[in-house]
Amino acid sequence: MTGHVRIAIAGAGISGFATLGHLVENLRAVASAKVVIYWLQPPREIQTHNLSAAQCDRLAHLKSIGLDPAQLFGGGQVYHPVQPSLFTFNGSSAARGFNFVSQRYDSTDYFEWVQANRPLLATLYPDFAPETGQQRHPVHTLDDIQGTTPRGAYGLYLHDQFLALKAHLPKHITLKIIPEALQASVHTEKTVAIETSTRKLSVDYLVQATGHRFAELRPEWAGRVFTAYPCDRYGQNLPQQIAVVGAGPAGIEVALHALHNLQVEHVTLVSRHAQSRLPQIEPTDPYKCQWFTPEKMRLQPTAENAKSLLRKELAACYQACNLPYPGWEKLLKIEAYPDFLRQYLQTTEQSPNHPFAHLVRPVMSFYDRVKDWLPADEQTGVLQLIHQVKPLFATQSRPCAELMLAAFQSKRLKLIAGDFLPAQTTPTIVRPDGTQIHPDCVILATGFVQSTSPPCYSQLRNTRCYSVIGTSLSSVNRQAASIANTIVETLAFDQASRSTKERVSAHCR
Ligand SMILES: Cc1cc2nc3c(=O)[nH]c(=O)nc-3n(C[C@H](O)[C@H](O)[C@H](O)COP(=O)(O)OP(=O)(O)OC[C@H]3O[C@@H](n4cnc5c(N)ncnc54)[C@H](O)[C@@H]3O)c2cc1C
Repeated sequence: MTGHVRIAIAGAGISGFATLGHLVENLRAVASAKVVIYWLQPPREIQTHNLSAAQCDRLAHLKSIGLDPAQLFGGGQVYHPVQPSLFTFNGSSAARGFNFVSQRYDSTDYFEWVQANRPLLATLYPDFAPETGQQRHPVHTLDDIQGTTPRGAYGLYLHDQFLALKAHLPKHITLKIIPEALQASVHTEKTVAIETSTRKLSVDYLVQATGHRFAELRPEWAGRVFTAYPCDRYGQNLPQQIAVVGAGPAGIEVALHALHNLQVEHVTLVSRHAQSRLPQIEPTDPYKCQWFTPEKMRLQPTAENAKSLLRKELAACYQACNLPYPGWEKLLKIEAYPDFLRQYLQTTEQSPNHPFAHLVRPVMSFYDRVKDWLPADEQTGVLQLIHQVKPLFATQSRPCAELMLAAFQSKRLKLIAGDFLPAQTTPTIVRPDGTQIHPDCVILATGFVQSTSPPCYSQLRNTRCYSVIGTSLSSVNRQAASIANTIVETLAFDQASRSTKERVSAHCR
């Protein structure tokens, strides 16, 4: 296709889809440029023998309505519909940061889409409706969409949005899906040569949106240690007792999946400080920070000041919420986590206006808002502070927290302090007192590492390669918007200079 601008996007998860959406939107204004967008995404291999009965039914139903679960677009790994229904989506993310379509090619937002597709969702996720089984939560229903839905429902919505985008593509844009992985890329001044297992392509721009993966597994651990995702790599063959390392949202949902869907009798959840995550609550009253603000940090840009401001803010916020302040030390060192979780759930049932609910956004965005004023060692200090308080503010869904509490109370789930040692050939967890345990089976939910190399292209104007990487919908959406903007501006600039040159040379002739 000579004369066309060629753009490749590797990865069809949220990051890749956001990039595609913003590119198409920006390119509408440059109708004189003929553009081909190559979207690379290898098919998803689903290990069907490891699925629960509900997952198998869902898979069959998806196929029966003409969807190919191996080749869905937009949701990537995290929002794949075949995942267990208790892998829930924090719906307010969609409302707050990622209403994909409103200004682009459709007018349906996620909440409207859920309502319009209720019969389909009820068929796909019957185990999400209130019933008496252990897995089901009384208020865990499709009516609760402002709070929670199965994450896979969001993946289906994104795929629908992709189909809508494809149907409304402007004539000057051609989209070509390549069902293969990007294997290599070489960047020269004018082009990027990209390679998959069967083809080589030359493009003008490459956006790498290949997501994250979990830590490498040692071959000696085969059959004994798994990464949390994709969760169809393990199944009914798990032993009665397992350890899940990492007590963030991933560790919690995977522990619940093992307990409720995979017939595991007992899960030991391991985290560094024997703390987990509290559920997200949306406060109904407004609250404005008076201490923990970027302005106050600017006056004294040190980690020590950040800590003192946060302590003052917590005390002030507890007072504003009419709750007794337990004190900084108690909040940082929670002795009996199940009791703490139970109390938090009770208190927030009475009123959602809790200090953790008010302060979650100020705390979790604080580092990004102040880092540019801080010297490197103070940046590290602020990051450490945020990391220390994170279990109180980085959130999970309320239904999962309630299921987690129920599992603690029925003694099928235990939370312990410990660290997994990745260099040991025998799976090993070391406790704070130095003792070691060697579980028969470990699922690692210890966070992400980046997916392929070399992914971190600088996002300078003179480069032709970009990468979108992030762990929240709003952050990848922001990056995608900025990259699409830069690409289209560069492309429009190149076009303008080319036509000026052509005019000048025609004039000279
Ligand atoms: C358990 C969990 C729950 C979450 N819940 C929420 C939530 O409720 N709200 C929220 O805001 N955020 C949530 N997030 C965070 C956020 O949504 C994800 O981090 C985000 O989806 C990442 O999207 P991505 O496109 O970058 O990566 P991915 O979803 O991993 O997509 C990357 C895609 O690239 C493909 N790929 C990989 N290598 C190649 C290659 N070489 N060539 C071509 N394609 C390739 C992969 O197959 C995949 O489809 C959650 C994250 C996790 C892990």
